[in-house]
Amino acid sequence: MNMKEEIPYKIYLEEKEIPTQWYNVRADMKNKPAPLLNPATLQPLGMEDLNHVFCTELNKQELDNDTPYFDIPEEILNFYRMYRPSPLVRAYFLEKALGTPAKIYYKFEGNNTSGSHKLNSAIAQAYYAKKQGLKGVTTETGAGQWGTALSMACSYFGLDCQVYMVKCSYDQKPFRREVMRTYGAKVTPSPSLSTNVGRKILSEHPDTTGSLGCAISEAVEAATTQEGYRYVLGSVLNQVLLHQTIIGLETKKALDKYGIKPDIIIGCAGGGSNLGGLISPFVGEMLRGEADYRIIAVEPASCPSFTRGKFAYDFCDTGMICPLAKMYTLGSQFIPSANHAGGLRFHGMSTILSQLYNDGLFEAKAVEQTAVFDAATQFARVEGILPAPESSHAIRIAIDEAMKCKETGEEKTIVFGLTGTGYFDLYAYEAFNNGTMTDIIPSDETIDSFLSRLPKVD
Ligand SMILES: *Cc1c(COP(=O)(O)O)cnc(C)c1O
Repeated sequence: MNMKEEIPYKIYLEEKEIPTQWYNVRADMKNKPAPLLNPATLQPLGMEDLNHVFCTELNKQELDNDTPYFDIPEEILNFYRMYRPSPLVRAYFLEKALGTPAKIYYKFEGNNTSGSHKLNSAIAQAYYAKKQGLKGVTTETGAGQWGTALSMACSYFGLDCQVYMVKCSYDQKPFRREVMRTYGAKVTPSPSLSTNVGRKILSEHPDTTGSLGCAISEAVEAATTQEGYRYVLGSVLNQVLLHQTIIGLETKKALDKYGIKPDIIIGCAGGGSNLGGLISPFVGEMLRGEADYRIIAVEPASCPSFTRGKFAYDFCDTGMICPLAKMYTLGSQFIPSANHAGGLRFHGMSTILSQLYNDGLFEAKAVEQTAVFDAATQFARVEGILPAPESSHAIRIAIDEAMKCKETGEEKTIVFGLTGTGYFDLYAYEAFNNGTMTDIIPSDETIDSFLSRLPKVD
């Protein structure tokens, strides 16, 4: 079939075509995302506050709503060259299996040892930490993708890397833990006895298996109490979304090379960094009135921040010590039911994406995990790649949209982000294959009870 087509299976850019600047979509937004607030004073956070916790250069990126492009430093570009440009793949086999006239493409970010797009920002954050002369960085990891990516980035720059890993993941995902240790990271199960907040939580709940909120609190404490350390984060922040625009810029360049204009762009949304990175250049065109696209964010029905959350100021962590962000949130105390897409279990969302969504630039859909794994399996069997559960949320909606085209006969062009591979998620696949996977959707009462406890700001 590809014989007659002019579009190759994989559209690779050449190495010299890797974008050399990140794009800051905030520069083109009329309604800027609301500033982060200091949790104690409820005043907007400035450089001073941020510099205690995060790297200085990254804080400049965090607060900059006006500069449209940031040069990517040469050292970061060199690292990108090891695994980028990532391929934009035409899903010919999936199209054929579905019998759809739609043309489906996916941008594959799983082509590196960390297995996801998170390396794009990890390497940037490690670079700025090194440049600042720091000894090391601290972070938390839940499912383990971010900790793995950061370990790789830190080992490249010779930085110490301390990862607080949610205890149940530490025990259940020994392989991820060992990848991190192989790259030289110190991995501590959280809660731990090495921080005040960890000791406090353990004395109150000795049997706890940990949570992301608690691991964040420990990592922040570790960064602020050790000389020469700062805290880094793998999603949600503006700086992370900025680094991830490498995904969208490459996608756009590859599409332009063949004169392809997407009708629908789809991505999964956890904290919003991959989706924001993928869609930024396209949203920029929409904001400037140059083009129009239909964009769909996909989230789990068990953690539906966009589709059932509220656009309001809320804490970014369960411990309520981190800054407040104005975002679509389910409430900082909301703990989603066990869902196998660990990367999509955050209660809130990027402030940039929240503002864009509120302004109607894209739509959102929530999907149940059995339907997600059904799509993942369909995709794996014909396209070869074993997708991450998070990425499979985008696959689900891409397939649904392609099937609508089959009914109407429309030859729409669909592009989706395939953020990573699922080799460390085989317990999830096992549950699906055994038929024991369930869908737990929070009731309206549950969601209302958490939303009624949002902090009063304004
Ligand atoms: C972390 C992760 C996500 C979700 O994070 P975002 O910041 O929303 O992009 C999606 N896919 C994979 C594979 C991940 O590791």
